[in-house]
Amino acid sequence: MALTGKVAVVTGASRGIGRAIAMRLADEGAMVVIDHPGDDDAADAAVDAIRQQGGEAIAVKADVSSAQDVDVLFAETLKQYHTVDIMVNNAGICPFVDWFDLTEELWDRVHGINLKGAFLCSRRASTIMRDHQHGGRIISVSSISALVGGGLQTHYTPTKAGVRSLMQSLAIVLGPYGITCNSILPGSILTDINREHYRDQAILERDRKRIPLGRLGDPKDIAGVAAFLASEDARYITGSDILVDGGLFVNLQ
Ligand code: NAP
Repeated sequence: MALTGKVAVVTGASRGIGRAIAMRLADEGAMVVIDHPGDDDAADAAVDAIRQQGGEAIAVKADVSSAQDVDVLFAETLKQYHTVDIMVNNAGICPFVDWFDLTEELWDRVHGINLKGAFLCSRRASTIMRDHQHGGRIISVSSISALVGGGLQTHYTPTKAGVRSLMQSLAIVLGPYGITCNSILPGSILTDINREHYRDQAILERDRKRIPLGRLGDPKDIAGVAAFLASEDARYITGSDILVDGGLFVNLQ
């Protein structure tokens, strides 16, 4: 229970990695705000799962790419829990698309959610942390795609490099306020974001073989790292990133 009494906001927490992070932070004693853009049932199910384990959580509907929605997210958080100690920028989309079919609209949507969303939430959370003078943690779920390209992800990889870079710059700005800013770079984690892609057994097997630890990641593999970065044990880590990929990145030759 390393996070007892802390308030955590996790974006895109109705499913996948965000949900696993929300559940883990709640297990560690944090009060958790589950942000989600529209599916009330999935978000309510995540809140129920946390409460059934004796934890505390609420769900707030907010599209992170909208400044107005982000204002609502933090207004509800302050109304319910009075502050923010841990901000997890997790919300993200990655609709695979060929470069020659990539539209300006899709480019803007992916950047709006993945990168602008992290900007809006980090700005709002850090302002509260600064004003309340208790320090804090900002943790962004970037990607191995911040380090490598992706032929069907030309709109996505720049957002993940951008999120990682945002954490590096914010570490400088927010360090004097006791706020640490770090990124997690997941490799291939099996969630709804890639479930369709991995229905093809040949692709699944090819990717599995490229991972030295011999399996795709599970959202819980990321949640444990987020809990560590949120904890007191990570107090001297800022502007850093942790690659959580089962060894995929180093297996080049
Ligand atoms: P996922 O299962 O598709 O979950 C994405 C979550 O983001 C959902 O809860 C979704 O809500 C939410 N979301 C979508 N648009 C949003 C918006 N405008 N505002 C707020 N929330 C929004 O994907 P995931 O794999 O868990 O991905 C989570 C993060 O990990 C993403 O940033 C992704 O880029 C990153 N990542 C994933 C992998 C991987 O292999 N899975 C690898 C590297 C990085 P709805 O369910 O309501 O749509």
